[in-house]
Amino acid sequence: MEKAKMVVVGAGPAGIATAVEAQAQGIAPVIVLEKSDKPCETIHKYYHKGKRVDAVWQGIEVKPEGICRFETCTKEEFLQLMDDYIKKYGLDIRLGQEVHKIEKTNDCFRIWAGQDTVIEAPIVVIAIGIFGKPVRPKYRIPKEVRDRVFFGTQTECIPGAKKILVVGGGDSAAETACFLCEKTQVYLSYRRPKFFRINEQNMKELDKRVKEGKIKLLMNTDIESLSKDEQGKVLVKFKDGQEMAFDAVYYCLGGATPENFLKAIGIEVNGRRPKVDEYYETNIPGIFLVGDLVFEKGSIMAAFNSAHRVVEGIKKRYQDRLERGC
Ligand SMILES: Cc1cc2nc3c(=O)[nH]c(=O)nc-3n(C[C@H](O)[C@H](O)[C@H](O)COP(=O)(O)OP(=O)(O)OC[C@H]3O[C@@H](n4cnc5c(N)ncnc54)[C@H](O)[C@@H]3O)c2cc1C
Repeated sequence: MEKAKMVVVGAGPAGIATAVEAQAQGIAPVIVLEKSDKPCETIHKYYHKGKRVDAVWQGIEVKPEGICRFETCTKEEFLQLMDDYIKKYGLDIRLGQEVHKIEKTNDCFRIWAGQDTVIEAPIVVIAIGIFGKPVRPKYRIPKEVRDRVFFGTQTECIPGAKKILVVGGGDSAAETACFLCEKTQVYLSYRRPKFFRINEQNMKELDKRVKEGKIKLLMNTDIESLSKDEQGKVLVKFKDGQEMAFDAVYYCLGGATPENFLKAIGIEVNGRRPKVDEYYETNIPGIFLVGDLVFEKGSIMAAFNSAHRVVEGIKKRYQDRLERGC
């Protein structure tokens, strides 16, 4: 069985930054297990081509504390930066390795990934983010319209669409609306009277498209149900009795904590958030969480900083385990 000093689960910004910080602290070997065929799957999948990656996200400014940092740039420049970190620190990232089981064995953990990978390590850092599970609305999505309803941000518009609905009130809803309105007429539905979570730059972009008539705002609207109309469109019924038909509906409601994954390992989840201490260590000594998993409102800079904090905590608390190994 392969042994490492630390296993990092997930190679998004938080996982990569954790491996970078560990390397810089002389912790080796560190193995990063990533389920997708490339690092930064969330960014590849949910950020559209050329997207601006904001250093200040969801209106929260986070000052860099560790090695990894970035300034507002494009999706492509950001991915290049992450590749540069991977190369510079010689990170050992194993792709196509979805972790499905983590088990405690004496002072160590056994980590199962992919078909037949099993690794033993005294320290595990989980960095799987929240976007594997986009938030869905509470009402049922009828089978007949499921091919026209999308969850999580989409980077493509369905072909031939003339009128689409984006649902949500955060930065990703604003960005999706601005991106899709260059291809089709967009309506943006938000259940509150005013946006308050959108950052300044996105708000400016949104206002501009609204003034140009490319986006129509449906503020204070709450959807009651969806159905299929006689033309095959998605008929959206709002709680105020209003009905409108769309070629497609895109829900941008954020991600959700992967509770089942965490609970299966024995990690305590308090309400919807995992329980962690000041170094983001869980109730299981030696298992830490980083990135979106530990924040109410996550961002890339917050993910980088959490990696710095976690490695600081590991050095402080587990020097003996690191020296001993498994
Ligand atoms: C559309 C959109 C736009 C955004 N724009 C910005 C922005 O401009 N600026 C900003 O700061 N933030 C932005 N964010 C938020 C930002 O993307 C997240 O805060 C950040 O990606 C969190 O990093 P993470 O490493 O915690 O999680 P993720 O980036 O989600 O990475 C998790 C990684 O773990 C892998 N993984 C999942 N499960 C497993 C498993 N079981 N085994 C192995 N690997 C696994 C995934 O494939 C993925 O690569 C945006 C988010 C979205 C959705």
